[in-house]
Formats: sequence, structure tokens, C-alpha cells
Amino acid sequence: MEQRQFLLSQKDIPTAWYNIVADLGEAPPPPLHPATRQPAGPDDLAPIFPMALIEQEMCTEKWVKIPEEVLDVLSIWRPTPLFRATRWEKMLGTPAKIFYKWEGVSPVGSHKPNTAVAQAYYNKREGVKRIATETGAGQWGSALSMACCFFGLEATVYMVRISYDQKPYRKFVMQTYGATIYPSPSEHTNFGRKVLEKDPNCPGSLGIAISEALEDATSSPDVKYSLGSVLNHVLLHQTVIGQEAVKQMEMAGCLPDVVIGCVGGGSNYAGLAFPFMPYKLDGKKDIRFIAVEPVACPTLTKGRYEYDFGDTAQMTPLLKMHTLGADFIPPPIHAGGLRYHGMAPLVSLLVDKGLMEARAYQQLDIFEAAISFARAEGIISAPESAHAIKAAMDEALAAKEEGKERVILFNHSGHGLLDLAAYDAYLSGRLQKV
Ligand SMILES: *Cc1c(COP(=O)(O)O)cnc(C)c1O
Repeated sequence: MEQRQFLLSQKDIPTAWYNIVADLGEAPPPPLHPATRQPAGPDDLAPIFPMALIEQEMCTEKWVKIPEEVLDVLSIWRPTPLFRATRWEKMLGTPAKIFYKWEGVSPVGSHKPNTAVAQAYYNKREGVKRIATETGAGQWGSALSMACCFFGLEATVYMVRISYDQKPYRKFVMQTYGATIYPSPSEHTNFGRKVLEKDPNCPGSLGIAISEALEDATSSPDVKYSLGSVLNHVLLHQTVIGQEAVKQMEMAGCLPDVVIGCVGGGSNYAGLAFPFMPYKLDGKKDIRFIAVEPVACPTLTKGRYEYDFGDTAQMTPLLKMHTLGADFIPPPIHAGGLRYHGMAPLVSLLVDKGLMEARAYQQLDIFEAAISFARAEGIISAPESAHAIKAAMDEALAAKEEGKERVILFNHSGHGLLDLAAYDAYLSGRLQKV
């Protein structure tokens, strides 16, 4: 029997986050103030984020210590397992070895609590009473609701309307943790009302929901805002994934030739990929890094690399990133977590420098891959994660074509047990191509 499981114990949970900025040898382009277009300083961000997170956003130190209180919560589900998909390898008839890091074991079923817990902790420590945020498919809202509940904070979640209607179960998850949910665009904010006036049937977008959450957060000093992806501090918190995976690949006795992940705002992929990047930067191994996105929201493959707003109302600082434009509203694909017009500035920078490549797939193709994976490995994957699965499958089939070994590692960002309506649509032939 081939070894499938590469497991760590509680003492192996990383005790510091890894900051790739320290290894890049140059500072990433700074965020710009929305009015002056000058580099935004800590004071500009203070109304929306606690100071500890602003410091992490601008941090250039290589390691940032993880507080005990955060580690204590992470230890509910971390370290997460790394598996080799031996049954899927056989099904595909590939000489490749396929490994996946399984983040679906967190209580809410995705990688997102890795940062939600840290963010809730720092907000609590600085006296914040309530956090307002947005959510697409509901994964981030669920993670933040749980984290707020653990640290005694209230949570208000603006949920993109298309997901609110398509995926009502995530709403119940958030409510179970005590959060308040509004479908976005909502009647609850000035911006939401403005959007609804123009288009009463607006399906919503992450950009709109972010504007609503920001408006809510800036309405009172003891309310802050929280973002589940894109920003440097979010990517930083996710590096526990890759640090564990580096150890687990050592246990497996091989380094990956290719490291894959799906990208919405880029956080789960950065979390896995960044701790492997030093191998490439130091010339130890020329690992290929592949970020995978939907054809319906092709931020890295079709977007421009320029300064843009993070939200539709143009309230956020400008970030230098790949973007489809802050007013872009993607088609209502099921991978709600990948429907964002922008991309993490750090992921954008690495793509621009040629250290990472990007690929886009269509909705029907990613479900075909997810079903192949489910029938071999049993796991029903989130539609977002299915993008990584499709890329892993293509890499495995390319290895088969070439008759060569290849070590493939992908981040499996979450399970799809609350996305079964999407599977139903696919299996009954009702799913749209893009
Ligand atoms: C939110 C989400 C994503 C996309 O967000 P990133 O910040 O790009 O990681 C991917 N997979 C799952 C399961 C998600 O919930």
C-alpha cells in the first residue's frame, strides 16, 4: 500500500507567519490614498482596521509571531492533513504523484478561518465591538462569524445577493454563530440603496458588498471592517498552510514540480505557495506555480496590472493589482468565492515578475474534474477548489502524455457540501458553460 497520509501533530502548528515581502528584495507598490493618490499611511487605514493588522499590512520582517490565543483556536483543526491522491492517480492512469493539502477540515469547511481568527483576535484586543464584512458564497462570512463568536465580537455580514439566494445554508451557518446577515445590495446602507435604485434585480458583487460593509464600519468608531482575502496581512495569516505543507512534502520525500491553487483574491493559493517560493528564489528548485481562475472572472489572465479600487463605490485605497475594473460584475458562476474583480497585490506582483503563471477554466470543465476527483477520492469539493483540481488533472494528464513522472501539489481549499445545488445543476445538465 502506497503511503497516502502525511500528518503532523499539534506541536507542529507553525508559531510564526511567513512574510514573502522580506524575500522579494524589493518593496511591493504601496497602496494609494483614494483622494490624494499619495501612498496611504497607517493613519489612512486606522478608521477601518485595527493597528496591529495595519502594521502587518506594511511589515517587511520575514517572520511574524502568532499570538498564543490565535494558536489556541487554530489548534481546533490545525495542522491540516496532506494526502496523496493515489486512487485518483490510478483512475487518471498517470505516472504523476498528486498531493493535496486539505483545508476542508476546518469547522466551516475552508481555509478562511486561518485569517478570520487572527483578525477577530486583534480587533478584540484593540477594543472593537463589532466587525462588518462582505461575503460571496458565504465561506468568508461563515469563517468570520465563527471567529467573532469565539472572541466575543458581533458580526454583520453583507452577502452577495446571488449567493444569498443560491446558497441559503451558509446564511444559517452564520446565524448559528450569532451573526447578522443582509443580502447585498441592501437597503441597509446609502450605497446599497443607490445600487438598488438603478437596478432592483442587481445580483450583487463582492465589490458592492465591500462598499456596503465599509460604509457600515466607518459609521462608528467601535465598528471595524474585515477583508477575507487580497490584502497582505490576510495572505500572511494563510501561510500556515504552506509551512505545514513544506514539512509534509519532506515527510513524503519529494519536492513538488508544480504548486497549484485556485485564486479569487489569492489568499489560499498564496498561503500554500509562498512558503515554497524560497526554493525557486534561491535557485534550489525551479518549481512552477500555477494560479487558477474562472474564465468568467479572468483577473490574472485578462485583467490589467494597474492601480485600482478594491470596491465598487471607490472608497478603498488604490491597490496595484491585476484588475477587471472595480465596476466589473462577473456572471453568476457557482464559484462565488472567485467572483472578484481584483487580485492580491502580492500575487499580482509575482505573476508580473514571471514567478507565477495563471490559467483560466470554464465552469463545465471544473465540475467534470471535481466529479472525477470525488469518484476516486470521495471528497466533494467546493466549486472554487475544483479550479485547482482541474489544473492538477491537466498536469497529471500532461505527465501521462509525456510518459514522465511529475510531483503535483495543489491546495484543496474547501469542501462542497453546502454547494450541492451546483452539483445538481451540473449533473442534470442545467449548468451554464461559463
Ligand atoms: C473564498 C474561497 C476561495 C477564494 O479565495 P482566495 O482568497 O483566492 O483563497 C477559494 N476556495 C474556497 C473554498 C473559498 O471559500
